[in-house]
Amino acid sequence: MLEDKNPRRTPLSELGEFKLIDHLTAQFEIGHESTLKGIGDDAAILNFDGNNVVVSTDMLVEGVHFDLSYMPLKHLGYKAVMVNLSDIYAMNAKATQITVSIAVSNRFPLEALEVLYQGIATAAKLYNIDVVGGDTTSSTTGLIISVTAIGTVEKDKQVLRSGAQPNDLLVVTGDLGGAYMGLQVLEREKEVFKVNPKNQPDLSMYTYIIERQLKPEARKDIVELLEKLEVKPTSMIDISDGLSSEIIHLCKQSNVGVDLYENKIPLDPQVISTCEEFNIDSTTVALNGGEDYELLMTIAQKDYDKIKGNPNLTVIGYMTDKEKGMHLVTRAEERIPIIAKGWNALNNQP
Ligand code: ADP
Ligand code: MG
Repeated sequence: MLEDKNPRRTPLSELGEFKLIDHLTAQFEIGHESTLKGIGDDAAILNFDGNNVVVSTDMLVEGVHFDLSYMPLKHLGYKAVMVNLSDIYAMNAKATQITVSIAVSNRFPLEALEVLYQGIATAAKLYNIDVVGGDTTSSTTGLIISVTAIGTVEKDKQVLRSGAQPNDLLVVTGDLGGAYMGLQVLEREKEVFKVNPKNQPDLSMYTYIIERQLKPEARKDIVELLEKLEVKPTSMIDISDGLSSEIIHLCKQSNVGVDLYENKIPLDPQVISTCEEFNIDSTTVALNGGEDYELLMTIAQKDYDKIKGNPNLTVIGYMTDKEKGMHLVTRAEERIPIIAKGWNALNNQP
């Protein structure tokens, strides 16, 4: 053990996830020419005399990121791959390999891990990914699964978080808030089940949002679509923590502001009806819910005609000068500052 002469004990909740990462990683300098982009984007970018290589890693922890009482192991394996591929696609890159590391307690029989790996294998096959390594170790309590994803991107195609310009369009793929509302339904059914285990819930009205929570799809198709449309976004990030948190990342790293229009945020009818049922504001859910694994990007005005009317891409706002700040323009045309309430892994509250 290294001796710790520092008697201060700063609670991690004082910093939050992003400040903690900044604090711990500020000391790391880039020493190799092959490191083109280190910490701070969805993936690192490396170059070894050819195409750029992108690398990203994400860990899922039982009790923090998933609850095995409603998360089938097969889906967990699938999702662990998706959350990692999503970061590769956020660089406008192609994902090619993953490594998978697990920590398991003896609570899990072999058969359970076989099912977990069926999910991993299904994802790898469907997304054309080679599984090339990993690590296996024991855990005293829960299950931990950590995946590292590797991909490639041509240098002139790579997209960082930092390239947005004033007047660029803010564009999002798919629809938002589904994964969070799916989680609300699953949490509610878990409580009902505790009281009455014989009760067979009818979840047919929630199939889309439950699938968004349990079986997200990383947007490989969007990287292919952008190539086909000959559109290179000026910046891009995947939506893991919620729209507002990701918008703030793009704005801060690009030194721009934003006007986001509430009435443009794409919501599935099932998200709207479930929000009504739970008495939650659907805009709040889209802004702060997280885990949608859609892509958020900025696109130059000149490319508008190429994306216009495409059902996969919704323009939800535009970038402004930094001095104008970051605002949500509500349906009532009020301008409300955007703040990051997104998923905070350290207090586990959305
Ligand atoms: P994402 O949500 O896209 O996975 P994160 O917010 O987790 O991104 O991480 C932001 C950046 O910080 C990434 O470049 C990531 O690799 C880096 N990072 C996160 N945690 C650590 C850590 N413990 N040590 C070093 N780098 C880290
Ligand atoms: Mg990301």
